[in-house]
Parts: sequence; structure tokens; C-alpha cells
Amino acid sequence: MTTEKVAIITGAGRGIGASTAKLFAENGYAVCINYKSRSGPANELAREIIVKGGRCITVQADVSNEEEVNRLFSTVDGELGTVSVLVNNAGILKSQSRLEDMTAERINTILINNITSYFLCCREAVKRMSNKRGGVGGVIVNVSSAASRSGSPNEYIDYAASKGAIDTLTTGLSLEVADEGIRVNCVRPGLIYTDMHTDGGEPERIERFKSKIPMKRGGQPSEVAEAIYWLASEKSSFSTGNFLDLAGGL
Ligand code: NAP
Repeated sequence: MTTEKVAIITGAGRGIGASTAKLFAENGYAVCINYKSRSGPANELAREIIVKGGRCITVQADVSNEEEVNRLFSTVDGELGTVSVLVNNAGILKSQSRLEDMTAERINTILINNITSYFLCCREAVKRMSNKRGGVGGVIVNVSSAASRSGSPNEYIDYAASKGAIDTLTTGLSLEVADEGIRVNCVRPGLIYTDMHTDGGEPERIERFKSKIPMKRGGQPSEVAEAIYWLASEKSSFSTGNFLDLAGGL
């Protein structure tokens, strides 16, 4: 086993997670690229990292499923070493809808994928990182959304509320483990160019909203990755329970 730092990034096959995995690998982390079902882009990213001399593995696991989260973390224990950074990034969106048209099935799917998953991964990370349990500390960065502040009316209040829960999780857990060598912070991206808007039923959504963003543009996944990386690094060593908004002024 090496002494290099190990980062688990959930939902890292595409979008913000992929950019984040690339940046951590470029900075010497051994990286676990987790994905749910699309192995193609995850394996392609892993190849790219390995060709450049980086160390990484891909692990298929649905992070809303407790057994699969346990398997994800034990695979990393065995193949890369103990996790030092967890980036909770995997998330889903359903098509735009008003609340009165939402079924319980849809709401529960959003909540399990966007909230339960973060709780389960935090649990496994804390068990390994906490210096009260023999660990050497670590950092957790949660990816929330500007939607937790806007509420996303007429589009997806369920998604926005799930991100509100992630803000509260960040606050609570950061305080719970502050004296155990673990920092917990959060980024809240605004409109970022990824596939997610297609899942919401409007691939060109950013173009519709652009004029309302003070900076008059959408963001790139790499701009979110840089903030995540800073929050995970020693450069933010006295920061915990904090929120970094990456939304062009929204
Ligand atoms: P994306 O391009 O749609 O990619 C989502 C990734 O998450 C994919 O790799 C997907 O795996 C994975 N995933 C989804 N559910 C999963 C599960 N249950 N288990 C494991 N992996 C799962 O999304 P993105 O835009 O990069 O979003 C990343 C995060 O940023 C999300 O939490 C999202 O809410 C947040 N965010 C995005 C924006 C934005 O404008 N894009 C704004 C604010 C916040 P597969 O590839 O296998 O499907």
C-alpha cells in the first residue's frame, strides 16, 4: 500500500464528477471513479488518467443502495487504500414538473438518489477517517446546488429540496466530526454545462436562463472542480461547515 492520498468521487463518469476526478488525479491522488450504469465514459476517463501516469480505478455502484456503498468503500480499501477525500457528487434530476403533478414514486426516487446516497457515503467515510476510530482524518465535500436557495419553482422542487437537505447534512456533520480530524464543506453550483439538463427535459435550459445570471453565462464543470479541489486541499485547512456558491452571481 502507498501513502498517496485517495479520493472517492461519486458519479464521476461524466460532468462535474469527471472533471473533479481528472483534477485530483493530475494532483497526485489515487482516484476512484464511481458511476451507476454508463461504464463507457467512466472507463474512457480512467484510461486517460492512467496514460498520463495517474492511479485510478472505476467502481460501478448505485450509491443509493446501502450494500453497493459498502462494496464501493471496501473495494477502495483493498485496491487504493483508505479514503482521504470523499466527494459526494452523484445526483439525478427528473423532468420539469409542478409539485401537484409529482408522484410519490418520483419524489422518493429523487430523495433516495440525492440524499440517502450522500448520508451512506458520509457514514462509510467517517468510519474510516475519524481519529476517534483510529483513522488519520480526511475531508468530505458535498455537491449541493444553487437550487437549495432558489427552490426551483415550476421545474423541480423535489430536486431543490433534496439539495436543501445536503446543506443541512453539511452543517450537522461538519459540527459532529469537527474535532475528529474531518472537515466537511459544500459547493453549490448554479447552471453548469453537463448532461443533467437533458435529464430535466430541456438540454438548452442554460441558454434560456443565461440573461438572468449576473455574469451572463453558464459555468464549466472544471470551474466547479477547482472549488472542490481547494476545499479538499490543505489550503482550506481551517474551513469546515462552509458553502461555496459557484453560480456566476446568482
Ligand atoms: P451528470 O452529468 O448528469 O452526471 C451525473 C453522474 O452521477 C453520472 O456519472 C451518473 O452515473 C452518476 N449517478 C447518478 N445517480 C447515481 C447513483 N445512484 N449512483 C452512482 N452514480 C450515480 O450530472 P452533473 O451535472 O455533473 O451533476 C453532478 C452533481 O452536481 C449533482 O449532484 C448535481 O445535482 C449537481 N449540480 C449540477 C448542476 C448543473 O447545472 N449541471 C447544478 C447544480 C448542482 P452514470 O454515468 O452511470 O449515469
